[in-house]
Amino acid sequence: MTSFTEGMTTLATESNPFRIAIVGSGPSGFYAAEALLRRPHVRIDMFDRLPTPFGLVRGGVAPDHPKIKQVCLVYDKIARSSGFAFLGNVTIGKDLSIAQLRDAYHAVVIACGAPGDRRLGIPGEGLPGSHTATEFVGWYNGHPDYQDHKFDLSHHTAVVIGQGNVAADVARILATPVDCLRPTDICEAAVEALARSCVRNIHIIGRRGPVQAKFTSVELKELGKVRDCVALCDAADLHLNPTSIEELTDIHADESRKNVETFRAFASSANATAPAARRLHFRFLETPISINGGGGVSSVTLAKNTLVGQKFEQAAVAGPSLLELPCGLVFRSVGSRGMALPGVGFDECSGIIPNAKGRCLDAGKPVPGLYVTGWIKRGPTGLIGTNRADSVETVASIFEDMAALDPAPRPGAAGLRAVMSADGARVISYKDWQAIDSCERERGRPKGKPREKLTHVLDMIAAADQSAHD
Ligand code: NAP
Repeated sequence: MTSFTEGMTTLATESNPFRIAIVGSGPSGFYAAEALLRRPHVRIDMFDRLPTPFGLVRGGVAPDHPKIKQVCLVYDKIARSSGFAFLGNVTIGKDLSIAQLRDAYHAVVIACGAPGDRRLGIPGEGLPGSHTATEFVGWYNGHPDYQDHKFDLSHHTAVVIGQGNVAADVARILATPVDCLRPTDICEAAVEALARSCVRNIHIIGRRGPVQAKFTSVELKELGKVRDCVALCDAADLHLNPTSIEELTDIHADESRKNVETFRAFASSANATAPAARRLHFRFLETPISINGGGGVSSVTLAKNTLVGQKFEQAAVAGPSLLELPCGLVFRSVGSRGMALPGVGFDECSGIIPNAKGRCLDAGKPVPGLYVTGWIKRGPTGLIGTNRADSVETVASIFEDMAALDPAPRPGAAGLRAVMSADGARVISYKDWQAIDSCERERGRPKGKPREKLTHVLDMIAAADQSAHD
């Protein structure tokens, strides 16, 4: 039998639980918690800078994709497990440092995603009317950071740069009749602005060809089914170069084959002449060279590209031929980017925390007790479920290292309360979140919506306080 003193110096025992802080409450954070909680005597404190959990599932997944959001039920179950605590409205790197977390816990897992944006690095990128997809998605999804952002939807033509699933979301929300969006959890201000939208033509620009478009096949097909909208592409763009034809025959090219089939349907003459309120134009082999305008965007200059390189490594090379596409709005959807967290190594080039199987590295050596998972570990790729395997790998590293970690008991959040609320900041527990959640559902009920989101942090805190007083 283990004596009490032995228990104190052995990690993951009743008297000395293995205390782990997770920074970020999106999918990768929750999958890490799930894998960690499979072992006994583990205590998880999950921090988020927002009072609301679930990261991109709440703030990124499109409102007309409610099925995808059901994954929150899985996260909710994890959050209700014994040994789990949520600490929202706490910004790591500002309210608490990584060093303070490392003192208070045996291990720290960074799961903060990739909240930045890749830049195009072209003139006019910062003009009024040129937005990142992140800003637009955050705005319609009620993310508190983007509620003051203004989108002038009085223009007839919008350009979306990039051909990934985020570009698909942006284009679909612009194209969808607002009556189809009203019964979703889209935030009220956005749906009212979209109701007044004059956008009729949406151009979705790919720098490479239809075979290389990054849409998943289901998301691309969906763009052909938007009510009162027609999806178009030029049949000439479907004359593929020999290397792209070779790519299509590869055993792993199932998604690309399906996409090319969908593009062929979009290129049909029936689509070209179909009456519709809105038109989605898929364009290929075009690179934006500049975004033009005086007080706001008036056009985008595009260079015509050719593809150069080997199978699956073809790059777009701009030729001398340029064209100007008039438009009043630009959405740059060219991928997101991780951001440095003070006190943790960061590779500026790839936008990730250097790591070996989730162990954070400093000068090539693992930093004891510091781990990473999700987009900040591998880059902004994959679907929500991709994060499960990623987090399982990181957690395997943690348990492999456990015997070598300093087993001295750690206080966890109890040792940090004074620092966290030093400036009067309200730390949001999971129970507080449940109160916010109920309040949002109640606000949505009379409108036939699953929820009407609270879009300001102070309103979220007020909902939590109200419930605490009731
Ligand atoms: P993404 O899939 O990496 O797509 C980025 C797009 O931007 C690509 O078409 C890329 O073209 C283009 N691009 C990059 N740099 C460019 C430049 N300098 N000039 C012109 N074009 C440029 O990124 P994402 O759309 O942000 O999606 C991120 C991840 O989230 C993906 O794994 C996606 O599947 C996932 N996601 C899934 C869903 C869903 O399941 N419904 C919804 C949203 C997001 P190249 O290919 O030539 O680089």
